[in-house]
Amino acid sequence: MKAMPKCCSFCGITEEESLLIEGVKACICKDCASLSVEAFAEMEDVQLLQNHTFLKPHEIKAELDKYIIGQEEAKKILSVAVYNHYKRIHSKSKVEIQKSNVLLIGPTGSGKTYLMQTLSKILNVPLAIVDATSLTEAGYVGEDVESILEKLLQKADGDIKKAERGIVYIDEIDKIASKTTEGRKDTRDISGQGVQEALLKMIEGSEVAIDIGNSHWKKQKVIINTKNILFVCGGAFVGIQDIAKKRLDPNKKSIGFTVPSDSDVQKNQTDYEITHEDVIEFGFIPEFVGRLPVIAVLNPLTKKELADILVKPKNSIIKQYQALFRMDGVRLKFHQNAIDFIVEEAMKKKIGARGLKSVIEKRMYDIMFELPKQKDIKTFTITKEILMNKSSV
Ligand SMILES: [Zn+2]
Repeated sequence: MKAMPKCCSFCGITEEESLLIEGVKACICKDCASLSVEAFAEMEDVQLLQNHTFLKPHEIKAELDKYIIGQEEAKKILSVAVYNHYKRIHSKSKVEIQKSNVLLIGPTGSGKTYLMQTLSKILNVPLAIVDATSLTEAGYVGEDVESILEKLLQKADGDIKKAERGIVYIDEIDKIASKTTEGRKDTRDISGQGVQEALLKMIEGSEVAIDIGNSHWKKQKVIINTKNILFVCGGAFVGIQDIAKKRLDPNKKSIGFTVPSDSDVQKNQTDYEITHEDVIEFGFIPEFVGRLPVIAVLNPLTKKELADILVKPKNSIIKQYQALFRMDGVRLKFHQNAIDFIVEEAMKKKIGARGLKSVIEKRMYDIMFELPKQKDIKTFTITKEILMNKSSV
């Protein structure tokens, strides 16, 4: 009797059709073997997530919520982007997951930098903040793009491994758009485009040689791999909402019978979903935009949000002053009219949350100078009159 041909115990393919590895009790074919390698990698990935070695998106957002008022959408998007980023870093799967670099669009004072600082603190990874306007193409006056990684390495206390898992936030990215936003598309700003091109490789992931050591004779080259560095680019992108609007409604102007209603006028940045197309139209090369797959939009802060920022976060301005006064044995209170006044004044400054502190800082210094002189004060209430300097301490 002729022996049965050996076959793969997984798919049944015979030794005549494929190479087989023979075990004690079973055989496996080439295809099934390579599929099982991938299956094991995926199982390890799942295990890694279950072992809970890093924060889940809702946990990241809950942490952000403790410090940052409003900006729900942006906080959610960033939480997921960061989560995916760390999944990608740890993944053993062969499926190559794209980097989740983020483009953060929001007006001045909407808290982009603060959001990034808070995020890096929560994740306990080094963060380098750089200004795109200081960057130049290699060979020009200014900082080369490599300086970004030098900064990150400093923030990582010289630990290359730590730096290679850090975050880089490039602020004012809109300033390196390659054309002006006032519709003069003929005036191409070549240097802006040059910086975009210089950033491409770094953002995507490459090995970059940087100099460490500050004195000339001690200089040493080290290689930083940017594959696992999360890049976030932020900017105000003034005028991008008009580009989005035009894209969504290209005929609106030419037809000419649509009169803008009040609700149209009130629409702001967030009412038109900003796409990658709009960012390209704004003046970015498609290759650059393609490396920032995630777009998060921040809203200008409302009065209510500014008031909340003053009072609610874990380290709010008011809580900080109260802590300082507590050390003098004084309970500090803020009258509602003082809070309203600070918010009103800050709104006028149009610099967002930063305006809050600048409104009261100087006056609070007067008070912090005077109050410790008086021994019998146990509680002190800040009112609008005091802040306006109409009433003495
Ligand atoms: Zn098989």
